[in-house]
This record gives sequence, C-alpha cells and structure tokens, in this order.
Amino acid sequence: MSFSRDDGRSNPPKVETTLATAGRDTKGQKGFVNPPVVHGSTVLYPTAEDLHAHRGEFQYGRHGTPTTRALQEALMALEGPQCAGVGLAPSGLSAIATTLLAVLNAGDHLLVCDNAYRPSRNFCNGLLARYGVETTYFDPLIGAGVAELFKPNTKAVLVEAPGSQSFEMPDIPAISAVAHARGALVIDDNTWATPLYHRSLDQGVDISMQAATKYIGGHSDIMFGTISANAKAWPMVAEAIRLLGVCAGPDDVFLALRGLRTLAVRLAQHYRSGLEMARWLATRPEVIRVLHPALESDPGHAIWKRDFTGASGLFSIVLKPAPQKAVDALLDAVKLYGMGYSWGGFESLVIPFDCAPYRTATKWAPGGPALRLHIGLENVEDLKADLERGFAAFNAA
Ligand SMILES: *Cc1c(COP(=O)(O)O)cnc(C)c1O
Repeated sequence: MSFSRDDGRSNPPKVETTLATAGRDTKGQKGFVNPPVVHGSTVLYPTAEDLHAHRGEFQYGRHGTPTTRALQEALMALEGPQCAGVGLAPSGLSAIATTLLAVLNAGDHLLVCDNAYRPSRNFCNGLLARYGVETTYFDPLIGAGVAELFKPNTKAVLVEAPGSQSFEMPDIPAISAVAHARGALVIDDNTWATPLYHRSLDQGVDISMQAATKYIGGHSDIMFGTISANAKAWPMVAEAIRLLGVCAGPDDVFLALRGLRTLAVRLAQHYRSGLEMARWLATRPEVIRVLHPALESDPGHAIWKRDFTGASGLFSIVLKPAPQKAVDALLDAVKLYGMGYSWGGFESLVIPFDCAPYRTATKWAPGGPALRLHIGLENVEDLKADLERGFAAFNAA
C-alpha cells in the first residue's frame, strides 16, 4: 500500500510541525482532531462490480484501516522523501523478522553488526539458519572494512546505531556504500534515535525499522514495530507483510499515533536530561566509563555528530570493579529507576547487562560491571539525588 504525501514543496514544514499535522484528515474524521480507532475485519463493497474489481479505499482489515493509514502517513512524512512506504508490525522484533524474511532467500548470506539487539541475532541463528540463510557477525566499528566479509551471495547488512546496550557507533554511510556497490541492501534498526534524530533513509539505508514500543509509543503501554523502506526495497517489504499476514491491533496503532504527536518534545527532554546525567556520571568516582555517543569523549562521537541530530535518553555506564552484591545494593537502593527491559517511556530505568555471552565478532570486556540507564522525564536533580543514594549503598556494600 502506498501513500501520497501532500504538496507544499516550496516551504516544507519543520519536523515538529510535521509531527503535529501529518496523517490528519480532519474532514474525513468529521471534524475531530484524531482518527477513529477502527476495529474491523470485514469491509463491505457497495456493488457486485466493486467486489469483483476489489475496488475501494480499504479491502480487508489486515491490509489497513483509516487508523493505520493515518499512522503510516505520519511516519512517511517523518522519514522524509526517500520513504516509499511504511509497514506496521505487532512488535519491534516482528518488524525485524518480517524485514529479513522479505529480503532473503534460501542460500543467501547476511551480515549483522555484532552489537545488534540480541533477539534479532536469535532470529538469524534460529529461523533464518533453518531456512538456509547464513549469518556472519561483524565488528560494529569495521566501517568500509566490511567489504572483506562480503561473499558472492551476500544480500543484506543489518546495522544498529548505536547498539542499545554497548553503544558502539557503526559508520552507516561507509557500510552502505560498500553494500550497495555489491548489490546488497542495508537494514537499520533505528530504535534508539528514531527518524527524528537519525534519517537513516537519507543516509543510504534501504529499510529502517523501529521498535515503536520504545520512543514512538513513549508511555510503556504498547508493543509495536514499524518498517520504513525506500522505493527499491518497499515492494519486497510490502509483499512479505501481505504473505505473512503481519498487522497491528487498532488500539496500539492509535496509541503509536498519539505518541508520535509528542515525540519531538519528549525526545528533546530525554536528550537534554540524558546528556546532563551522562556528564554528571562521568565525574563520579564509582564510574570508570560512560557509553554515550553525544559525549565528546565517546569513541563514536564524531560519527554521531556527523549522522545524528540528537540523542535519546538511553546510555550505559561501567562501574569500577565491584562484587555483585555491591551492584545489587545500588539497584535496590534507587527508587526512581525501575528495573526492567524495554525503554523509551516517560520513566527512568536501570538494568545490569553483559554482552560477553553472545558476542561472536568482538569481545565485550568493559573492565567492570555494566549498567544501562534510561533517563526519563523526571526532574534531573531528583534523578541525581536518587543515584547518589544508590552509589552510597554501592560503596557501603
Ligand atoms: C526493544 C528493541 C527491539 C524489539 O522491540 P519489541 O517491540 O520489544 O519487540 C528491537 N531493537 C531494539 C534496538 C530494541 O531496543
């Protein structure tokens, strides 16, 4: 399904305006600001002729409703002029799986960044391997050196910038140039930055997917995935979505659209507070490293500055070597940082992590216990005071 954008070429709106206006058909919504939440499977055709010709704006609930149309139009506007279509999936992982199934055939070879989301790796090592697709993992910092890993049957490269635990920043334009010269497609898991801060499709990526569960939803209340593709890749994605029957529930579609409307203000605050917390943490004696690409000291900073226009509220820290019970004392002492997976909601989170057991192309040896933080929309002074309590417990243990 393809969606036309409105004109207004001469003076294209800025992104905040796009987020507030795109995908809204006030007249079609009988004057209401938001689209109705259409719960629907059957679509009735007015005449036998229409039925035979499959004529009509909507044909079947799985293929789209006025609610999904509104969200797809808004996402297309956000992704920019390279975007030829947007698919909606019931989770971020489902968006990744659908994308990989869309572009790969039995006998193909796939290259995957070693810092990719772990369940994405599980999909490659599990189902894709069973279906005869071979995966090779590569160092996220490899850049144009990825050329050496290409085989005659390499069909796609999956990147994640930055990795959502370890925060290495791959050079997507360099990797894309190599991939395209060899006829392979580039897929980017753009969940961390969202299209607001990283316009993947403008940087040579063919398919940009997001776990909209995170910042698009923004309130920790939905599971959702999006797949945005350029003109070259969209027909493959659209076909896979159709063949697999991938669709999302109407209430979640509505909540994703509602989240999108406030994405710019939420992300700006996550960016500001996250960076302030990162700078503060870098001064703490308990912290030996802060992994945040917007920090000047971060190894990925130059790439971040070149390719991104902002940072989200998710980053990691490495604590000085300490027994597990000291780390647990910190985790139990903080009150504003919930312990849980997922992220991108309004609330702050902390989670310990260790990439070592699943990395295959690179070694994860940070030199101390690692914690991932999500900085939410709470007051930053409160967040610092809470972590100070945590550090006191860490030091006392
Ligand atoms: C959470 C996440 C996913 C998966 O999203 P779900 O909606 O939880 O399936 C994929 N990629 C990244 C980077 C994520 O953080």
